[in-house]
Amino acid sequence: MSARILVVDDVPANVKLLEARLSAEYFDVMTASNGTEALALARRAECDIILLDVMMPDMDGFEVCRRLKTDPATHHIPVVMVTALDSPADRNRGLEAGADDFLTKPVSDVVLIARVRSLTRLKMMTDELRMRAITSLEIGMQAPERSAVVDTGKGGRILLVDDRESSYERLATILAAEHTIDVEPNPTEALFHAAEGNYDLLIVSLDLNNFDGLRLCSQARSLERTRHVPILAIADPENSTRLLRGLEIGVNDYLLRPVDKIELLARARTQIRRRRYTDHLRDNVQNSIEMAITDALTGLHNRRYMESHLATLAEQASTRGKPLALMILDIDYFKSINDNYGHDAGDDVLREFAVRVRKSIRGIDLACRYGGEEFVIVMPETDLHVAGMVAERLRRSIAGEPFAIHKGAKRIEVTISIGLTTLEQKGEAVGDVLKRADTALYRAKHDGRNRVVSHAA
Ligand code: GH3
Ligand code: MG
Ligand code: MG
Repeated sequence: MSARILVVDDVPANVKLLEARLSAEYFDVMTASNGTEALALARRAECDIILLDVMMPDMDGFEVCRRLKTDPATHHIPVVMVTALDSPADRNRGLEAGADDFLTKPVSDVVLIARVRSLTRLKMMTDELRMRAITSLEIGMQAPERSAVVDTGKGGRILLVDDRESSYERLATILAAEHTIDVEPNPTEALFHAAEGNYDLLIVSLDLNNFDGLRLCSQARSLERTRHVPILAIADPENSTRLLRGLEIGVNDYLLRPVDKIELLARARTQIRRRRYTDHLRDNVQNSIEMAITDALTGLHNRRYMESHLATLAEQASTRGKPLALMILDIDYFKSINDNYGHDAGDDVLREFAVRVRKSIRGIDLACRYGGEEFVIVMPETDLHVAGMVAERLRRSIAGEPFAIHKGAKRIEVTISIGLTTLEQKGEAVGDVLKRADTALYRAKHDGRNRVVSHAA
């Protein structure tokens, strides 16, 4: 899929020029001739990256950028300011407005394409995460955009890898005004240090003595623990061709020496904000995956997960010729617990029940909440005899110790009935196994409850 770039410039010739170069690299290009139009297009989520002219009548590029970056609907879209003036003051105004990068007119082809490619990769990744995080938003979790918009990017943990004392002392002093900063002057230690330190940003000098800083960057990209940590490279101007290599291998941003103080701070803040934002998205995805397979009340697996996983377990047992036991547990007269002590007391019983179940089974056993007060436990490599002993132990662990309700103010007796069976022959349908366990459970209820009934096929 090719990225769609929005080019914003009030001079038609400039638009045409960028459009031609980007189209030649198979980017999909759309254009706007003023800020209002650009904001409307961006809000409709129709572009992946915005190339924004600074000097425009009515609303200038800084203002457009500021609006894009404070609107939760557009704040994640990378913005590259295209400016005719390469003055530090100009750059800093843009970075303060939240711009992700700068291109100076006349724009060099190589730099243009390298930056757009690198930002495209980042955008694709965050889009994927945002899409997956939508599920968690639908069930009422906080939108990560909201916290990202108010995040100042300050208070980060930074590791600076630089072996020139005069250089790292100056950089560290500047950064220490807003962040916690560690310096690693020994590049051979840097990767280890970075992996151990839980950093929000790595700043790597590419002018190291007898050491290739790009190698370090590429190693950091492939190591699990540093893969998502942004990298800001710093290089002497004569090393600028290596910077392009760096962007190709996943360096997120760069600065040329002599490093401008305000620009360093602004670029560090931008990377740290982005890091926190993607971390937040990643956490949301993790949470929603867990929620999709977990029962919220008891923390046990839910029915959907059990049903899909049970098929896999049954198949494994069949192909390996190992037994597989399955039991259904049902709390006796649970309705009367609700009726007599309230629904909250019922919930307390369910939670405590799950705790006791977890204590009685092995890690490889699968416990799930099958319905309201019905649970299923699947035990790989377990025959009917052993499963019967486990079931009996479970029954006793419930009946033997009263359950605390009303915040511990009262204790009540709870019992369970258990129906037990095993997978019988190769390829038996799991639905049949469940049905057999259910029949056994019905017998246990019928025979007086608080008991285990086994049903061999
Ligand atoms: P039996 O001994 O035959 O199993 O009787 P029982 O009362 O346990 O069974 P029944 O199926 O009649 O009632 C189950 C009750 O469980 C009905 C339902 O309101 C209650 N229930 C289901 N889910 C929850 C829950 O999440 N919390 C609480 N507190 N109650 C629940
Ligand atoms: Mg019941
Ligand atoms: Mg029931």
